Amino acid sequence: MSKESVTSTSQSQSQSQSQSQNASSSSATGSSSLSSAGSGTVILDSIPSQDLATIPEAEEPKPWGRLWALEKGFWNFDCLNNEYWFGRDKSCHYCFDHPVLKRKEHFRSYSKKHCRIIREKGPGNTFVVFIEDHSSNGTFLNGQIIGKDRRLPLYNNAEIAINHELHKVFVFSDLTTDDQLNLPKGFRDKYIISKTLGSGVCGEVKLAFEKANCKKVAVKIVHKPKFAQLVSERGDAASKFSNVATEIEILKKLDHPCIIKIEEVFDFEDSFYIVLDLVEGGELFDRVMRSKGLKEETAKLLFYQMLLAVQYLHDNNITHRDLKPENVLLANNEENCLIKITDFGLSKIVGETSLMKTLCGTLTYLAPEVLLGAGAGWYSKAVDCWSLGVILFICLAGYPPFSDEITDMTLRDQIIKGHYRFFPDYWAHISETAKDLVKRLLNVDPEKRLSTKDALNHPWMQDEDMKKKVKQLMYPQTELMLPPSTSDQPSTSRKRPHEEDCTSSAKRPTLSSNKTVAQEQGN
Ligand code: ADP
Ligand code: MG
Repeated sequence: MSKESVTSTSQSQSQSQSQSQNASSSSATGSSSLSSAGSGTVILDSIPSQDLATIPEAEEPKPWGRLWALEKGFWNFDCLNNEYWFGRDKSCHYCFDHPVLKRKEHFRSYSKKHCRIIREKGPGNTFVVFIEDHSSNGTFLNGQIIGKDRRLPLYNNAEIAINHELHKVFVFSDLTTDDQLNLPKGFRDKYIISKTLGSGVCGEVKLAFEKANCKKVAVKIVHKPKFAQLVSERGDAASKFSNVATEIEILKKLDHPCIIKIEEVFDFEDSFYIVLDLVEGGELFDRVMRSKGLKEETAKLLFYQMLLAVQYLHDNNITHRDLKPENVLLANNEENCLIKITDFGLSKIVGETSLMKTLCGTLTYLAPEVLLGAGAGWYSKAVDCWSLGVILFICLAGYPPFSDEITDMTLRDQIIKGHYRFFPDYWAHISETAKDLVKRLLNVDPEKRLSTKDALNHPWMQDEDMKKKVKQLMYPQTELMLPPSTSDQPSTSRKRPHEEDCTSSAKRPTLSSNKTVAQEQGN
């Protein structure tokens, strides 16, 4: 059994637990097997079995805390004693000596005695848990450095990182709190819930651990009353929960390396608990914000995957309708990594006509025909291609094409007119082919806008090295074929006046997270 899958202490604990279970079940049926348990059992043998119940059993010590490993090379750890040392030194209770760790560049920077977790008596009968930093390179609690020879209280769901705030190695579960008891029973039996990973319009997404195998998952919790309120604000009470049900149905059917996988769904009176594959690299949004735009090569590799994922959705007659960098998750922190598209809450399976009536989406990423169509409009999969154009623009430049920070035109007008600017300071180093793809996706006419298939055939996407890397990311174990690309390239078109490179001194708008707006179509 690997170190990652089971805690060293819980392993021995469960062994002793099963021993004690055997012993107690024997006591119920008779004393014969107790006689083989060692000294003292001879006396027990002569006692009638009904009297055995009065003999007190030694209580198994219960762990008061658990460290859930977040990184390969670390393993889960139950805390039973009042002091634990962590470090490279062999004398540590938790020695960083896993072969996987030794191969990592971080390894040498771990201190021999890196940190210590201690549990001390607090007021009354309570205990307080602290984490102390004894390292040269730092121990971090929820992104904050503790500081050498200093301590901070360690509380439920706190995240511990070592050497660097992003090198997160553990989440701490305080097993003495009863917050798990508030969870619906069916879910609680199977999972332990931990910190919040993200939140959206109708609930939160939490990290959770499957009890049976310690597998990490993400759980999207949709609170029904909150959702119902949102729906009724839209005057659409009849469609209560239809979005969630749709999301579940859609996700269940999908199977693509760049689409989030649903594991199971719990439907409770007050909430849905949707168990999803955990994606650990955070949102594309945060990466773009951090780096103020991506390198063109990185943007290409990530965007190619987005196109493949959305093409897959479209081939399955699904329009996402809420594509934005917050809904594109990254598998890890590597520059070239797998992406996973999430949040199909606003999706609908479209019929033959591929047209939809409901007006849903986030304004910054919303296609002009959706805005124009309010009242009479039909719109199709092309809305996703518009959103992809906005995402590509943001990835390359680090600022959004349409923004309410631009004061000379309303956001609505900017979108309807396709008015955006390539500020030279941000675009000078970006290839004309990349810009060309942006322009063709941000075509206000949905009929002329590139489809995902067209975009995949665009010259910017014809990069065999990049495709090879993507293939390895998508199918690390197997040599599967990527969808064949066709040779029909989109024709070159004349520049529209509003697409001219901007030389104006106007300030570029900043990128900020957008709340999803869900509007009911006007009458
Ligand atoms: P909403 O419909 O509320 O926007 P999302 O499904 O987009 O819900 O989730 C909200 C946020 O939670 C995401 O932007 C992301 O940060 C985080 N999240 C969602 N799913 C996962 C997952 N499978 N793994 C890791 N984080 C996730
Ligand atoms: Mg979302």
